[in-house]
Amino acid sequence: MALAHSLGFPRIGRDRELKKAQEAFWKGELDEAGLRAVGRELRARHWQVQKDAGIELLPVGDFAWYDGVLAHSLTFGVIPERFRPAGGKPTLQTLFAMARGVSSDACCGGAHAQEMTKWFDTNYHYLVPEFTADQQFALSWEQLFEEVAEAHALGHNVKPVVIGPLTYLWLGKLKGDAQGFDKLELLERLLPLYGQIFQRLAEQGVEWVQIDEPILVLDLPQDWKNAFERAYNLLQREPLKKLIATYFGGLEDNLGLAANLPVDGLHIDLVRAPEQYPTILDRLPAYKVLSLGVVNGRNVWRCDLEKALAVIGHAHSRLGERLWIAPSCSLLHSPVDLALEEGLDAELKSWLAFATQKCAEVAVLARAVNQPDAPEVHKALAESRAVQASRAASPRIHKPQVQARLAAVKAGDSQRRSPFAQRIAKQRIGLALPPFPTTTIGSFPQTSAIRLARQAFKQGKLSLGDYTDAMHSEIRHAVEIQERLGLDVLVHGEAERNDMVEYFAEQLDGYLFTRFGWVQSYGSRCVKPAIIYGDLSRPKAMTVEWIRYAQSLTGKVMKGMLTGPVTMLMWSFPREDVSRQVQARQLALALRDEVVDLEAAGIKVIQIDEAAFREGLPLRQAGWQAYLDWATEAFRLCASGVRDETQIHTHMCYSEFNDVIESIAAMDADVITIETSRSDMELLDAFEAFEYPNEIGPGVYDIHSPRVPDTAEMVKLMRKAVRRIPAERLWVNPDCGLKTRGWAETEAALINMVAAARQLRRELA
Ligand code: GLN
Ligand code: ZN
Repeated sequence: MALAHSLGFPRIGRDRELKKAQEAFWKGELDEAGLRAVGRELRARHWQVQKDAGIELLPVGDFAWYDGVLAHSLTFGVIPERFRPAGGKPTLQTLFAMARGVSSDACCGGAHAQEMTKWFDTNYHYLVPEFTADQQFALSWEQLFEEVAEAHALGHNVKPVVIGPLTYLWLGKLKGDAQGFDKLELLERLLPLYGQIFQRLAEQGVEWVQIDEPILVLDLPQDWKNAFERAYNLLQREPLKKLIATYFGGLEDNLGLAANLPVDGLHIDLVRAPEQYPTILDRLPAYKVLSLGVVNGRNVWRCDLEKALAVIGHAHSRLGERLWIAPSCSLLHSPVDLALEEGLDAELKSWLAFATQKCAEVAVLARAVNQPDAPEVHKALAESRAVQASRAASPRIHKPQVQARLAAVKAGDSQRRSPFAQRIAKQRIGLALPPFPTTTIGSFPQTSAIRLARQAFKQGKLSLGDYTDAMHSEIRHAVEIQERLGLDVLVHGEAERNDMVEYFAEQLDGYLFTRFGWVQSYGSRCVKPAIIYGDLSRPKAMTVEWIRYAQSLTGKVMKGMLTGPVTMLMWSFPREDVSRQVQARQLALALRDEVVDLEAAGIKVIQIDEAAFREGLPLRQAGWQAYLDWATEAFRLCASGVRDETQIHTHMCYSEFNDVIESIAAMDADVITIETSRSDMELLDAFEAFEYPNEIGPGVYDIHSPRVPDTAEMVKLMRKAVRRIPAERLWVNPDCGLKTRGWAETEAALINMVAAARQLRRELA
């Protein structure tokens, strides 16, 4: 009998109960008992939902306050000095302090939160464990054991889930004086903790534990590969049957290593890396369970059951009882329950599956090999076949015009008419900007008045006329301030935009939206990505009227503002029936029309934001170049419809460019604005070493904090920039958009920024 299991279920709740409870707790509106009760109810509900769907072995340990990696840090006692509770055991307060920091107005000086970063190539963020060279580990948090007891009390058959020792160490960072120390040396100290945990779980009557080691899908240094063998040879002595779970990619060169670790089972992701099957069968020892991840845990589409069954059926004939069936990865990355989407068009809805539905898909696949003649199996397969057929033929998805246009794209379409040197000469004449021109990244403070107006308009409580008036008045306000402050290239402020992706997605054909399709991004923060379901096109201009209005208010240059094709794609749920490249190029053509229309409306500078460009990089280096090639081409296709005189900007808010600098240059934007202030301009090293050819605005102040930096500080940063990049190619701007800031600090910071530019002009120009 093949077994249906789940690697993890979303913890937020179908109504985002966990978000709401945590936020209420932080505000003091809910006490700890109330918060814990919400957690308990969610866990109980999620086990029941999975069980009802037909999952036989339920995950425990997938629930977490704030973040699951953080829960492991507490479990192991990896609590930075600044949060260590005086004398006692850590509490929920300790946990939330590590996640959110402690403000410095508190009596004791405050402490900054642990760093947060992306979980592999997902949009989930985890809290980076902080190690020291003298790090000690001690079992310090009882949550996993308590939750196992809780599940047992409810009569569930459970499989605790832990992050494996190698992946946990890999995700952490050494802090303090750790010169020459290799964090892998901590492994020997950490392993006994796993032993203790497994002992405790065994005492609780647990049979299987799932050990997540997703780093096995990465390019691993040899010493880490060796460490895998060492670690699991040692853990072999400890109780419990162990299933090592890998996901987000293929094992590739680590396949032999993973297959032969002395554990009882291996899970692989056949959605992201279907080519691992059947190779794995030849490498897997005859005693081992093989868990096949065939239902996509990262997307919202219904599984093609027949396609999955082709693989599973074969595996079952080879493995029999040793076959387990699962989602590709934890369902943390998919929305909770499609049943809530009552308003959704019935046909579109029939194509989708969220976490709850995915559990049922896993279960029916197991059933299909165990009891192929069961009527439910026939029904499910017939339904799945009908869904696949309806999608394959749907005119709502397949648009001949979009496809024909894409097919007709020529190489020259993704190239500006002249090289940068010629363009910039024409642009300088047309724009007549001073040296060190000042600008901002696009958004201005999103006040509650703005949000209320947008909301009222959406709900039909504000007429289009009144809404337009309200937005115009915001634009006037933004323009007046920028003129008063003496900025050189102005922006309209993005008051009409809820979100940089959703705003455009809502205006494009081929996107659909859910009402409750929330996915945890970090802590209590959830996002509701738009879904690309069909060929993408732009029915009509999206931003032109707003920007034209803004330009009409000023004699200064007004910058048009768009989100680029790669970012649109990365922050949406993509289609699975065509490649990401095709979707990016369709988006590029749709946005290209907007760029051209902005130019026709008299806009001389157009910024195309690509905040997600770098995060699209595949996990394995072998895939990088292919990605960078199509991502770069998509950007250029979007940007190249305009005359030489029109200046194209792009913006990327992060600080890791070394790996991708050549592709950034190949995007050929006339100006790029980037985040540099927090790294003290260090990242400009990448731009120097490679001799980045075009203009750059290295952010001179951090917009993530309300702090107003003074002029001298910004001048100092720019002087550093001047040492690496010729002064005539530098712009002066903040790190990113200002929408999360208040007006008071924004004005104060921009006054100082303009003063800094003026000082630089006097000093250096
Ligand atoms: N133009 C956007 C803004 O200013 C850019 C946001 C971003 O890069 N994340 O808000
Ligand atoms: Zn940004």
